[in-house]
Amino acid sequence: MSSARLEGGDARLPPSTLMPRTNDAQPTIRIGYGWDSHEFQAGIPLKIGGVTLPHGKGLGGHSDGDVLLHAITDALLGAVAAPDIGSLFPPSDSKWKGVNSAVFLEEALKRVRAAGYSIANLDSTLILAAPKIGPHAAAIRSHLSEVLGLAPDRIGLKAKTPEGMGTDNAAIAHVVVLLQERKRQSARKGK
Ligand code: MG
Repeated sequence: MSSARLEGGDARLPPSTLMPRTNDAQPTIRIGYGWDSHEFQAGIPLKIGGVTLPHGKGLGGHSDGDVLLHAITDALLGAVAAPDIGSLFPPSDSKWKGVNSAVFLEEALKRVRAAGYSIANLDSTLILAAPKIGPHAAAIRSHLSEVLGLAPDRIGLKAKTPEGMGTDNAAIAHVVVLLQERKRQSARKGK
């Protein structure tokens, strides 16, 4: 019997039995991350977070181009390991052209609920040269609060200008969400 064999485990066993097991239990929390970018185009309305902002240009591409709702949708889908927004709603399918991005968000929320989770909180960062988001931040957070069924104090919204990035004709959104298991919330409330 060699000591190396004892320390290294039995090489005949499959790798899964040799590795430390850290994922046996159903997680009570899950994190999700979403990212999106859209290009500015003249002659279309600018929608960010479900709110139409006054600006000379809007965001082109998939659906109504709402870069923030798309990133939130992908963060929620990612948190429950569902297919991403482009797989569920292919941009090549003309039926999604110009559609309200709330449709995609609704599907992601359904999947989060079906998986047994609710949103604990959400944080987002927009990166765009213009328009300034500050004057519209309250309206965007209020609208997100309504569509997500989440108190405004659980919704972070930050905006940055793209210093040195060369993306002045694009809007970019990063989003993280934290989900919590719904039945544990109910247990704590005595339900
Ligand atoms: Mg998009």
